[in-house]
Amino acid sequence: NRTGCVGLKICKAVLVGDVAVGKTSLVNRFCHDVFDKDYKATIGVDFEVEKFSILNTPFTLQIWDTAGQERFKSIASSYYRGAHVVIVVFDMSDEGSIASISRWMEDATASSNNPLKFVVGAKKDLVSQAACRAVEERVLDIAQSLGAEYWSVSAKTGENVQSFSFRCVSLTFDAA
Ligand code: GDP
Ligand code: MG
Repeated sequence: NRTGCVGLKICKAVLVGDVAVGKTSLVNRFCHDVFDKDYKATIGVDFEVEKFSILNTPFTLQIWDTAGQERFKSIASSYYRGAHVVIVVFDMSDEGSIASISRWMEDATASSNNPLKFVVGAKKDLVSQAACRAVEERVLDIAQSLGAEYWSVSAKTGENVQSFSFRCVSLTFDAA
């Protein structure tokens, strides 16, 4: 069984993925319903806290938004420790970011106890429907082999961001 959420009702969700794939934008759309087209690199780790009330139970989602360079640093594992949810984000318009999905998932889940896993394709608005389907076909296999659920989203248009977030929150809550 998954650990940590019971009693505390605070869940730690960690977002990882290559630099500039859209991690911070996804958090900003979800938490503040805003989008900024200008890139501001995340330095170290950002935190956001979202409070929910589910079935009259207070529930806090603590979101750790990382810089994207942790893979090359030895301190990485302290970011990931005790994560209940691991979200690997890649850029649907950038093939290169697909190649590192598995590595991110392996690194981020190494020091947590069986977290819920998601693979999220960001910037859906930048790809054609055909390209979107081609990417989804490839990445669904990768996600499945990692035991992760796959979602395509756009922080710019907001497409699927709420649906994905609610899915994430409700699965985490159910696991608590
Ligand atoms: P991070 O380094 O993974 O946190 O990436 P950011 O969230 O900072 O985004 C990097 C760049 O991609 C920024 O210029 C964003 O405006 C842009 N971006 C992020 N999400 C989207 C999206 O859904 N659609 C488009 N078109 N651009 C996006
Ligand atoms: Mg960032």
